[in-house]
Amino acid sequence: MLKTESLGTDYAGAMAQRPTSSRCLFCDAALSHVFVDLGMSPLCESFLQEGDLNKMEPFYPLVVYVCPECWLVQLEKYVSPADIFSEYAYFSSYSDSWVEHGRRYTEMIIDRLGLTTDSHIVELASNDGYLLQHFVKKGVPVLGIEPAANVAKAAEEKGVPTLVEFFGRESAGKLAAEGKRADLIIGNNVLAQVPDINDFVGGIKTLLKPSGVVTIEFPHLLRLMQENQFDTIYHEHFSYFSFLSATGIFSAHGLRLFDVEELPTHGGSLRIYACHDEDRTHPTSEQARELLTREVAAGFRDLNRYGAFQEQVVATKRGLLDFLIQAKRQGKSVAGYGAPGKGNTLLNYCGIRTDFIEYTVDRNPYKHGRYLPGTHIPIFAPERIAETKPDYLFILPWNLKDEIMKQNAFIRDWGGQFVVPIPEVRVYP
Ligand SMILES: [Zn+2]
Repeated sequence: MLKTESLGTDYAGAMAQRPTSSRCLFCDAALSHVFVDLGMSPLCESFLQEGDLNKMEPFYPLVVYVCPECWLVQLEKYVSPADIFSEYAYFSSYSDSWVEHGRRYTEMIIDRLGLTTDSHIVELASNDGYLLQHFVKKGVPVLGIEPAANVAKAAEEKGVPTLVEFFGRESAGKLAAEGKRADLIIGNNVLAQVPDINDFVGGIKTLLKPSGVVTIEFPHLLRLMQENQFDTIYHEHFSYFSFLSATGIFSAHGLRLFDVEELPTHGGSLRIYACHDEDRTHPTSEQARELLTREVAAGFRDLNRYGAFQEQVVATKRGLLDFLIQAKRQGKSVAGYGAPGKGNTLLNYCGIRTDFIEYTVDRNPYKHGRYLPGTHIPIFAPERIAETKPDYLFILPWNLKDEIMKQNAFIRDWGGQFVVPIPEVRVYP
């Protein structure tokens, strides 16, 4: 069972400390308070080809710290972003529900901000144009900025103009000098992956028109902690934000968070709204005040609150292994569904290889014929499920479980059942 009782105000035990030479990504304070230690793990997007299977594979510590000064939860830095993002395998358009999320956002924000064909929208980490394509259809001018050349190419093919580069003060300054400041800057699921948060948020300040608005979506640390979402921690995600820590970071760069929405995406995300400090046209909303109060009440200014997370993670791992060991003892077959980054953290941390999950499938053809990093579980096209008729389909991208269970309802024809590992292992007949 989920140990929700450990999330009360009574945090058992003192938090683990491990001195490191790393300093806080935002405020430069010394880091030593361990939020969670997930052991050693390979880079979660480094899918292997068959010829790589007999080679050495780099593993890096997956240890997350919390800054005692600004409360930013963050990974110690091990790898350079260029190693991670030059050929990124994640194409947003392979998720129907994420494309639909983008469409609904477009309708809402055009209406809320009164955007027209004279407006200029910039999306940071615009991926394959899954979102900006909806603005293009409405005739609103857009620019995508995306460091991974292969996904940027897919965006151009959708009619979304895209600059292939990392965003920061330098690229923002260049665009501003060319008269291309933005009425709306969008950044969805990029903030966590930014290696220099001050350069990134400083760039937003530079690129934003005086009356412009920024919306940024990121997974909410509160939900990560409440729902055991430790598998959303991986080397590509340097930081994990609360509304409290985000407010401090944006404020240091002259940007005010005036509103916030809580979204169901990625297991529970925030969409924050920011404007220039001096822009008085956006009063701070009741939701923004209330969320800040709620986070402080939940202990987000108390180090021991963060320290209690490790215990939950260990309990989740034991429960999951219990289930898999029993299933295999009963002679059941287990296939995976999906090959997301979060799956790789989960499988590597729990030590789950082909001894428990024979193979996984993914809709992204880039991954077919490749192997998951570390665990070497082979990846096939989804048709493999109907061919092999597994007893259990183990859903790795649990945030998309409803969509996946609907698409694969046919496994019930042979008595197949769905397994979802997070927040605790659950079987759906
Ligand atoms: Zn800090």
